Amino acid sequence: MKNTWTLSRNSNSFKENVFVRIDKDEITGYGEAAPNVRYGETPELTEKAIHQASKTILDQDLSNHSQVKQVLDELIVDQNCARAARDIALMDWNSKKRNLPFYKILGSNPDNTPLTSYTIGIDEPDMIKTKVSAAAEYPILKIKLGGQNDEDIINAVRSVTDKPLRIDANEGWTDKETAVNKVKWLESKGIEFIEQPMPAKMLEETAWLKQRVDIPIIADEAVINTADIETVAKVYDGINIKLMKSGGMQEALKMIHAARNAGLKIMIGCMIETSIAITAAAHLSPLVDWADLDGNLLITNDPFTGVKVNQGHLILNDNPGIGITGDW
Ligand code: MG
Repeated sequence: MKNTWTLSRNSNSFKENVFVRIDKDEITGYGEAAPNVRYGETPELTEKAIHQASKTILDQDLSNHSQVKQVLDELIVDQNCARAARDIALMDWNSKKRNLPFYKILGSNPDNTPLTSYTIGIDEPDMIKTKVSAAAEYPILKIKLGGQNDEDIINAVRSVTDKPLRIDANEGWTDKETAVNKVKWLESKGIEFIEQPMPAKMLEETAWLKQRVDIPIIADEAVINTADIETVAKVYDGINIKLMKSGGMQEALKMIHAARNAGLKIMIGCMIETSIAITAAAHLSPLVDWADLDGNLLITNDPFTGVKVNQGHLILNDNPGIGITGDW
């Protein structure tokens, strides 16, 4: 990590991700898993899950990607990020096989990528000011709250910038009175929306909060895949889709359609990821309202290049597949 990465629930100075390659017919597809303790994932379990699917996957007709995905979901049952790694590699392989950039297969227009936000982790006010100044090139900031010093953080941010801000409390406000007071205060600070103010399981309390505030409330930890959308649509204004939660691009695409049908706003987000998973998600971004695809910008040792970011604009290349170069 460029900076120690602090959220409401934990703090890390490094992250350990798992890369995967699918080699078949002289074509290589690349994928990545970013295991997250919040979802019971570890690098060890993820690696094991990826390996246990290897032989069966290679025996399949890979061009029938939805069929392969079904097989994958039966083989890998409890590490969604491992499914995601396999699915990203599968879709990279497939679009290389067809000699097309992945966005063409999706029918998404790379000129319509939304601006990505850039995330500022929880820190002391002086360090917050330093981080915000260092993020001058990014037009939208996402500010992590839910710790002990929320007001100090926002005051520090607002002392150096008037950019649009998005807030992510990562389930940090654990009673509804606290949450409503925080959100009411934030409403006067130029905030676009609030992500996951309260714990995912506190659906009733979140519904109570939503009735009392004007800023959109977005589900992140409360929504994993398509099966959750009907429930969260009753409580939240929008959802944050992440490949690592959904288990890959095919399920993320289903989520986009289901969320649109339910009238939800949609963000595509990420964990701390390299350019493999970030670029994969960027191909889906023209289909959603907001992007938070900055995981690769927060690390010092990305082995890959793919989507570029210029003043917050996500710029996809037109190489076949997801369009990444590099290896490990
Ligand atoms: Mg979040």
